[in-house]
Amino acid sequence: DVRVRFAPSPTGMFHVGSARAALFNWAVAMQSGGRFILRIEDTDATRNRPEWTEGIISALDWIGINGTNPVFEGPYFQSAYEPQHREAVAKLLADGKAYFCDCTREQVQERTGSKDKGYDGYCRGRGLTAGAVRFRTPDEGVTVVEDLVRGRVEFPNNAQEDFVIARSDGSPLYVLANAVDDITQGITHVARGEEHLPNAARQELLWPALGATPPVWAHLPVIVNEQRKKLSKRRDKVALEDYRAEGYLPEAMVNYLMLLGWGPGEDREIMPWSEMAPLFRLEDVNPSNAFFDEKKLRAFNGEYIRALPLETFEERCVPYLDPSWDRELFSKVAALAQTRISVLSEIRQNVDFLFLEEPVFDQASWDKAMKNSPVEILTDYLQRLESVSWDPESLKQALEEVGVAHGLKLGKAQAPVRVAITGRTVGLPLFESIEVLGRERIQDRLRAALA
Ligand code: GLU
Repeated sequence: DVRVRFAPSPTGMFHVGSARAALFNWAVAMQSGGRFILRIEDTDATRNRPEWTEGIISALDWIGINGTNPVFEGPYFQSAYEPQHREAVAKLLADGKAYFCDCTREQVQERTGSKDKGYDGYCRGRGLTAGAVRFRTPDEGVTVVEDLVRGRVEFPNNAQEDFVIARSDGSPLYVLANAVDDITQGITHVARGEEHLPNAARQELLWPALGATPPVWAHLPVIVNEQRKKLSKRRDKVALEDYRAEGYLPEAMVNYLMLLGWGPGEDREIMPWSEMAPLFRLEDVNPSNAFFDEKKLRAFNGEYIRALPLETFEERCVPYLDPSWDRELFSKVAALAQTRISVLSEIRQNVDFLFLEEPVFDQASWDKAMKNSPVEILTDYLQRLESVSWDPESLKQALEEVGVAHGLKLGKAQAPVRVAITGRTVGLPLFESIEVLGRERIQDRLRAALA
């Protein structure tokens, strides 16, 4: 049976790259009737924080990866298995596959005359009984990582140093703990970020040394930004939590993340998870860098927003609206707003004018709108509003006529009116907005703008 795992370290916000890896694994587990194991790799006590662990679990839950599906197993915490990790180190020592070493970095560099030659095997035959523990790697031949994404990757053994698997205080290193847990948890496929490929070369040796057959490897392509640089939390918006807070829908996020290195074929892009998951194959993942295109994600999100039933859309907007705002009034413009916004948080600036005593004052919008005879337009329109019939078509026609009288096309004539009413130059369809706000409030706003 296929058993995959997702093994994040709780050292920061949940990265979109991690979410992609989780989804790829989730898809594999779902289609094979296998298992998806969540293992929190919390062994680096100096960098872990409990809130990051909670963040991981809630972010996974948000994208649909949680225990309500029987495929899900865990979470396990790596720190709980330290006794097993120590046992594995002891066994490797007892079998002569690992040895103690007390060399300092400086001593090694002095002997090899280089900073990057790696360890020279000096302690291999010294029979020490304490110190750091190094795994003894073969001197000749190659270690082959058969990778579903990258194909056959060869690592010459003479370039592979005897790597450390436990510190001199006895605490096991990540590369070892990770392999031991994968073995204990019966993992058959390891799909993770490309940065772990060098670990795979070491683990390809560790697994058999621990009496197990190595898993199927799949190292997923790096995710890059517009400058083709690896996404980083310093440069880019990478936290899933941030996208969530901004009002990205999980359905859109999942859809977009699945396309980072993979696609369902036939140029199809917008596709719900339920259709995508059965099509996903690790073998089909493209090894070249995947571009995280925020604009495209936004566009996806807009499409998903527009596909929501109106009622659902309204509900999803609620967290972004002020609790004091009248829900009924919001309902009157919800359908208009649904066609306009790309992320839910944009709802606020689109509808706030309905609820606020005065529109939000935006200097740039005013400056822009004040270019073409604004006073004349506002004055004349105000006058027309006394008697015009209160429906979008008539409201529009009236403004059109006012524009003509001043030699302005509707677009130009509209600008000061829109700014006077909403405070901004862009927003919901104007005449529907005027209709909803009502004659009296509209007149007040135009008068206030003229004052
Ligand atoms: N804990 C590792 C990380 O967060 C995952 C390693 C793995 O998937 O094997 O990068």
